[in-house]
Amino acid sequence: MKIRCWMAACCLSLTGYGAIAQTYLQGATIIDGTGGPAIEDGAIIVANGQLACVGSRQQCRPLADSVIVDIEGRFITPGLVDAHVHFGQTGWLDGRPDGISAPDVYPYQKTANDAKANPGRWQQSYLCSGITAVFDVGGPFWTTQLRAAADNNPKAAHVKAAGPLISWAGREQMQLNDEIYSFLPMGSVEESLASVSKLKAMGAQAVKVWFLAPPADQRDGMDQRMLAIGAAAQQAGLPLLVHATSLREAKVALRAGAHMLVHSVSDLPVDQEFLDLLIENNTVYAPTLVVGSGWTRALTSIVFNTPAPIDDPNGCVDQQTIDNINQPNLLREYLPDRLDNQWAYRRLEGVGHELALLEENLMAVHAAGATIVTATDAGNPMTLHGPSIYAEMEAMQSAGLTPEQIIVMATKNGAKAMQDQNRFGTLEAGKAADLLVLRQDPREDVAAFRTLSHVMRAGVLRKQSELAYRAVNN
Ligand SMILES: [Zn+2]
Repeated sequence: MKIRCWMAACCLSLTGYGAIAQTYLQGATIIDGTGGPAIEDGAIIVANGQLACVGSRQQCRPLADSVIVDIEGRFITPGLVDAHVHFGQTGWLDGRPDGISAPDVYPYQKTANDAKANPGRWQQSYLCSGITAVFDVGGPFWTTQLRAAADNNPKAAHVKAAGPLISWAGREQMQLNDEIYSFLPMGSVEESLASVSKLKAMGAQAVKVWFLAPPADQRDGMDQRMLAIGAAAQQAGLPLLVHATSLREAKVALRAGAHMLVHSVSDLPVDQEFLDLLIENNTVYAPTLVVGSGWTRALTSIVFNTPAPIDDPNGCVDQQTIDNINQPNLLREYLPDRLDNQWAYRRLEGVGHELALLEENLMAVHAAGATIVTATDAGNPMTLHGPSIYAEMEAMQSAGLTPEQIIVMATKNGAKAMQDQNRFGTLEAGKAADLLVLRQDPREDVAAFRTLSHVMRAGVLRKQSELAYRAVNN
């Protein structure tokens, strides 16, 4: 017997059916994430958490006992991949005491313990926002343990995590005098190699280097260590991820074999040498366009003692985070003196200029043919786990990329960055049944991802509102 559902009715609680042989989604326009043409009036067969067939209704036919879900007039895409997040950070300054340290208001040890105790808080935000896979590119050791439990869990996004990051800038600069979040050192070539070995031993799924531009007299030594780390990561079978926002250091990272640059180059326009290295290495470029303005909004909200607006169209941000953002007054007395009104206005004025360079570099990288991903840096102040992906995709669109290009970057390319392209990222038979149902056409405007009506993860279809922390009017 077929159980027939419509989007507003019984299909919303498919989970209640227990062991369903097959779910058959019919009638939507399917955008499969490969960049190929969309399938109008398409059909998708889901069985055992996987996609069994994706195509036309003629190509994919239901079995006698399939649960049939009618979704005419809607749009199906793969689940989104956020290629740069931090489970160890909260979306507010309590998770970044190097920004403003306020131990009496937000004891960092407590913030760190809370993050460790409840990664499900962000997992819910991700699914609620349509994100079904995330790459944690730096954080406490425990983040490296999230992957196994998340993989086939319909209540969690897939995770890959780099764990503690290697940096020449240590605890003093970060003011992280706690035992949970520790940097690994790169004080010499030997120390750098030991740091890679340590990551391998703890089960990290990548090696991340926080490669800040060093003082000029230390450059040569630092370059050598970067190259040594690259060789060691390759030997360990771990992808090398590098934070290198200066053009010079980004080139060193590419020479070291970086699998992904986790941010834009932001100090200078990229040049041909950089683009050649990027293409030669097949390195993934993660622009993270909006995280800088998130910091600006967070800090200026404290200077002006006015909460920053929260961009959360689907109710996906947890109440604790919202409460923190809405109380900038708690941090006012901890503001460093230099962060005064003058500073705030200058910083607000500078946001557009900074973004213009990031956009220019993004389009140059795109024109060169490099692999680009959608990546938010979620967990940083005002770059919220989950919904920040909408603003990031819209910023990519404003930079000049087309919605169809961005959809591929936010799905297939994200899976490639995670080296999981054989398991998810596109809607193809044999891959994980991770998909989104949208009310509006994302090929017209990526803002359509805000009109998410349903999320399927590992074959379990849920109404978006079931994943939300609060009801919203839309
Ligand atoms: Zn980051």
